[in-house]
Amino acid sequence: MEKSEHVLLVGMGASRFAREHKIATCSQDALITMRELDRWRALQAGGGFSTRDAFRKKKGPAGTVGAVALDFKGNVAAGTSTGGTPNKYPGRVGDSPLIGCGTYADNSVGAVSTTGWGEAMIKVVMAKTVIDLMERNHLDTPAAVREAIRLLERKTEGYGGIIALGNNGEIGISYNTPRMARAYLSAAMRTPCIEV
Ligand code: ASP
Repeated sequence: MEKSEHVLLVGMGASRFAREHKIATCSQDALITMRELDRWRALQAGGGFSTRDAFRKKKGPAGTVGAVALDFKGNVAAGTSTGGTPNKYPGRVGDSPLIGCGTYADNSVGAVSTTGWGEAMIKVVMAKTVIDLMERNHLDTPAAVREAIRLLERKTEGYGGIIALGNNGEIGISYNTPRMARAYLSAAMRTPCIEV
């Protein structure tokens, strides 16, 4: 997006932009896996599925990968690649690509990436909420992510997870889903700390 004055492109315009900038593309079929197709067919046949409930189950949606980073110059960055939400309506947009909801980075505070029930995360503008809690309420990173998950529960009864990194190098991890695999590594560590 450094080659555009815009921040977010979707649909046909995004495809055109990719072609114009010679970004490699693939067919939509190449993005379909048998496992997800079988899952989708079973959900379509079964009925009574709720996206919210999917995130509170132990075997809930998986595949979202988020990352936050701080470089030696003090720049922070965040990125989120969603595993998606099962059985969604065509055209549904989740929190992951929305700046402020699934992803946010501000050099003066820190960086945040989120996962979980996108509809709830969008409603509380989750990633920016964490940054605001750190900045305006002077919460440290671990306290800010814990408070943000409490707020998510209180305002939406939603399920989600957050990784955050303050510009002071302090990390925060919090979630109310049954599990969230996570790892971190600092310049002082030889191997990453991994928890699943
Ligand atoms: N937040 C994503 C979405 O709602 C899903 C996920 O994180 O697993 O699309």
